[in-house]
Amino acid sequence: MQGMYESGLNAIERSPEKITIWQLSRLLKVSKSCSNFSGDNSTIVQIPIRNCQLIVPKLGPLEREYYSQDMAANLVFSGALSPSDPKDSAVLIVGQLKSLKQIKYSDVSCKLQPRVNEETYIAAVESLYPSPTDTCPLWLNNATVAALPLRCSRHNTPSRAHALTKLVKSCYSGGDEFVVVVCEKKDVFASASALARTLPLFNAKSTAPTTSRTVTVEFLLVGEGSDKPLDDEDISCLTAAAESVRLSAKIVDMPCADMHTNKFLDEIREVGKQLDIEPLIIAGTDLDDAGFGGIWGVGKAAENLPALAILSYKPKSAEKTICWVGKGIVFDTGGLCIKSKVGMCGMKTDCGGAAAMLGAFYLAVKTGFKENLHALFCLAENAVGPKAQRPDDIVTMYSGKTVELNNTDAEGRLVLGDGVAYALKDLKADIIVDMATLTGAQGIATGKYHGAILSNNEGMEQACVKAGQNSGDLVHPVPYTPELHFPEFSSSVADMKNSVADRSNAQVSCAGLFIGSHIGFDYPGIWLHVDMAAPAHVGDRATGYGPALLNTLFGRSSSNKLLQSIAPPTALWEKDGMEVEDN
Ligand SMILES: [Zn+2]
Repeated sequence: MQGMYESGLNAIERSPEKITIWQLSRLLKVSKSCSNFSGDNSTIVQIPIRNCQLIVPKLGPLEREYYSQDMAANLVFSGALSPSDPKDSAVLIVGQLKSLKQIKYSDVSCKLQPRVNEETYIAAVESLYPSPTDTCPLWLNNATVAALPLRCSRHNTPSRAHALTKLVKSCYSGGDEFVVVVCEKKDVFASASALARTLPLFNAKSTAPTTSRTVTVEFLLVGEGSDKPLDDEDISCLTAAAESVRLSAKIVDMPCADMHTNKFLDEIREVGKQLDIEPLIIAGTDLDDAGFGGIWGVGKAAENLPALAILSYKPKSAEKTICWVGKGIVFDTGGLCIKSKVGMCGMKTDCGGAAAMLGAFYLAVKTGFKENLHALFCLAENAVGPKAQRPDDIVTMYSGKTVELNNTDAEGRLVLGDGVAYALKDLKADIIVDMATLTGAQGIATGKYHGAILSNNEGMEQACVKAGQNSGDLVHPVPYTPELHFPEFSSSVADMKNSVADRSNAQVSCAGLFIGSHIGFDYPGIWLHVDMAAPAHVGDRATGYGPALLNTLFGRSSSNKLLQSIAPPTALWEKDGMEVEDN
């Protein structure tokens, strides 16, 4: 380590402006005398040995953790283009073809000179023929212009966020580099969230690079709103959004051995610390004593016992109380109704809903939420052991309702049933949103890109679809008809079973209705259920789906003007009052 410290110092002396914060933190880590380094503020640090000093810039709250991981790239946003030479830092200019054609060479020349002249640039843009995307190299592999798909159907996001993630990922050079996104202002938030997905935080490869890198995303606006460049408030919103997406994805990417219930609680405490909020945690046998039969039953067989954690933010201006409830099954074996050896792989991702809620809460509070906001995390490992709950067992939920188990693998709805009941009974929520990787049927019903939504309020349903299109986290509604579908759960001995009689009868709706039944179908507030089992991941990587959706949906409750500008009008559901649209 001492050798690395020395060579790091040599590097600083050679080119002090090139040292990254990450490298610096690595250097500081090996120096015990630098223990005053907190990262909380700009700090002047005395480097021993050479008796020099360095100014450590302020780190974002979640960044400190990032820098402790070898692969973690630093992601920076900017509202203006800074001069750079493709020879030193690769640059990718990306946008829809119509946007690229709106800008002139002089708009981007500071990123290309002296390697790429105007003639080459214009010829490259003219040659682009996206089908669905296209790229054209401008200078070796270090300067590229790329076009997003031309087509965008009405159920897609106009930002082409999914194509943006894929395209940018395929163009990364691997070092410090720039991505210039040419887009309209309304697509900035979705684009930033899409770019956050390209740089996952978790990596356990032994070959992971030992030096970090910085990807700087610079926005060049065209069309409506382009007269006003992004300001500091916009940039800090994008930064927090990217942090929230990457945090959510990290939690989902980590295996249960490293992200069990107690580790998840540490993540919640860490976010709480950054926001100056102490979480309320009900854990282990306390859950049983307090009547959380759903959460306790699912998690009681695991070495790390289950927990319900709540982060609460209560600004003085608040008029409403909003609860976000996430399913955090850190691993799902299926319980005694055990999954197959193939079906069990990937079940570390079953905490995607809770991970999304944690990122979403962080982003909401960071950007100035105006209403009471509670994030509830229903954490459990659905494990197998002598204490595991069995089929035929009857559990009493926090709602007071009894459930006869006919499938221990339908556990997400059990933990969420308790979560939403707590939101109603203890937190008196006006609006309850639950989010979960709930059913395999979701992927069949609405696919890999669109989460399935179920709501008792038509306006909320429409607003959520719009928020999905504006944020890039797409959703599509499934039928809300409890009177037709809830009888699927009928039980002879208890209030309900936990799994349906007929699996080919609107399974996604039914699974959601089980959760809704614990706040009751006569709940006068607004309830929204988001099943995001499929869009929570692409292949074996988490997407960080969720924080962008929720913060766009509730953007009118934020004091951040960028979120407000992309949020659907709350009038959609406020006009209907808080009444249940149950006719
Ligand atoms: Zn399950």
